[in-house]
Amino acid sequence: MGVNILKGIPIQMPTKYISVTGGVLSGLGKGIAVASIGHLLSSKLKIIPIKCDGYLNVDPGTMNPFEHGEVFVLDDGGEVDMDFGHYERFLGVTCKSRWNLTMGKVFNMVRKKERKGDYLGKTVQYIPHVTDLIKNHIFEIVQEENPDLVIIEIGGTVGDIENELFLEAMRQMKEDVGRDNIIYIHLTYVPVPYGVNEQKSKPTQQSVNLLKQRGIFPDIIIGRCPDFLTKEIKDKISNFCDVNSDAVITGLDVDDIYEMPIIFEQEGLPEIIHKKLNIYSPPDLRKWKKLVDNIRNPDRQITVAMCGKYTRLADSYASIIESFNHCSAHLSCKIDLKWVETTDLKDTSFLDGVDGLVVPGGFGSRGTEGKIEAIRLARERDIPFLGLCLGLQLAVIEFARNLCNLTGANSTEMDPDTPHPVIDILPEQKKVAEKGGTMRLGAYPATITEGTLVHALYCSTEVSERHRHRYEVNPDYHLILQEKGMVFSGISPDRRLVEFIELPQLRFFAATQAHPELKSRMENPAPLFYGFVKACLGREPVNGSEKGLPLSQEEEK
Ligand code: GLN
Repeated sequence: MGVNILKGIPIQMPTKYISVTGGVLSGLGKGIAVASIGHLLSSKLKIIPIKCDGYLNVDPGTMNPFEHGEVFVLDDGGEVDMDFGHYERFLGVTCKSRWNLTMGKVFNMVRKKERKGDYLGKTVQYIPHVTDLIKNHIFEIVQEENPDLVIIEIGGTVGDIENELFLEAMRQMKEDVGRDNIIYIHLTYVPVPYGVNEQKSKPTQQSVNLLKQRGIFPDIIIGRCPDFLTKEIKDKISNFCDVNSDAVITGLDVDDIYEMPIIFEQEGLPEIIHKKLNIYSPPDLRKWKKLVDNIRNPDRQITVAMCGKYTRLADSYASIIESFNHCSAHLSCKIDLKWVETTDLKDTSFLDGVDGLVVPGGFGSRGTEGKIEAIRLARERDIPFLGLCLGLQLAVIEFARNLCNLTGANSTEMDPDTPHPVIDILPEQKKVAEKGGTMRLGAYPATITEGTLVHALYCSTEVSERHRHRYEVNPDYHLILQEKGMVFSGISPDRRLVEFIELPQLRFFAATQAHPELKSRMENPAPLFYGFVKACLGREPVNGSEKGLPLSQEEEK
């Protein structure tokens, strides 16, 4: 609930709602649209994003990244849809697991309530029981967080059987919250067919019809299109779909998702929302535009090799890609990611023209030997190296094998019978039988050693990063690794777990058991990524007066 000052008297504003649905095609960028709308309205409003997904998994944690893209992890340990990455990056909020409502969670709740006897005597039905439960979940979040505005994204496309109940709940919401307090935004596709060379409105009309059949009448239509929508097409959509012409907004194809709020502002979207919801929260995009301009017009360029298993699908590494975009924005540098499939590395040519190497997180043994080999080459040739989660574990294995003389050293994840299990399962994981939601998940603190590269980058002895893993550096090997020159620059407060490692004699060789990419923001790039990119640019190692701070922080000093 927000406070508005009217004639000197503060009045309580009811919480406002925006429901966002999509039509015609999946993959039109609904998550980015929601995040961009949120960004534009966030100057004066507390905004909560909620995402409803129709699948029956409780969360995406058990899904293959090929299937569903990256699993995003929140501070509270929730494994959620990757759109939460966009929400956090654009809105500057720390999201909660409860804000991702899947049909799997809904059915779990219904089953529990039914067994408890909450519906005693009743036939449990989709309407009203399931839809009530969806709405109550949303209203509970509103009660907990007291936001000014809630943006609810319904996953999938109108007409999909999976999201019918969420759409029905959205339809009913206008009765619960009042028609003045909710607007409906529908994202569609406006194709320009080859040879016809004209923007076409039919798919939008049909998709809006599907929505209307479900009792939802959109207030705003965003048409994804390669070009700005013409006045003619806006008028046509307005006519056929019963929205004002100025409420038909271009969802332009952009090279860089951070341009989206700028496009929406240009199209007048904030004013229309302000008018329809009777709110006021003018956007200030000055700094954002400067950063976007740096991404678009970089002064220099580097190439970074990304050694991954899911390299065919950029969505699997969305947060890493965004972390590099944030570095681009602050260092005015184009970062070319060269995807290296390590399952079939034949020679060392993958390192030709490469300024730095990243080994990201991953599971299972496929491709790990290739990654270990790549890390060895990076270490021996002093190519900047950044290891993330599995990347840290493989760097430790490489170091153990080649510098500590521990032949056959491995992780018990890859080789349960290794003579030197330098990476082993966390003790608390040994008895865990269930797969879903059982890893070491969410934000954990680390104590950082002063004088290390990691300390210079974070400028702090206490850092908190998000985790998603089952294995760790085996404490039995801590001593030998350190004796041979590996520095544990960050450890858990109980000193049991290794959180950050580095090899100080090299230009940049650092890795973490965490996933710092999950907390990188446009305004505040993840420190490890920032330091790594600087090292790739061939700048001096990040220490001394410069401290490797991102531009924004340097400016503030
Ligand atoms: N497979 C490793 C583990 O479970 C690494 C996980 C990861 O990279 N996220 O510990």
